[in-house]
Amino acid sequence: MTTPDPTNRDARARAITLLLAAAETGSEINALIRVALRAGFMWRCPTCRENHYADRETCCGKPRPDDA
Ligand SMILES: [Zn+2]
Repeated sequence: MTTPDPTNRDARARAITLLLAAAETGSEINALIRVALRAGFMWRCPTCRENHYADRETCCGKPRPDDA
């Protein structure tokens, strides 16, 4: 594996965005978000339970938790 670099991460986040845009049902969207969360492309804020792309560093005034 190569060291993760921001360009690569952005490309993956864009790919997830495109997949989510193409998803038509709630279960498709939930499945994609589950994959994205597990793969580290997205994270969930423990306070408000919103899902965020990996390039977002903060939510609810706090930085992204290490385990999110
Ligand atoms: Zn939040």
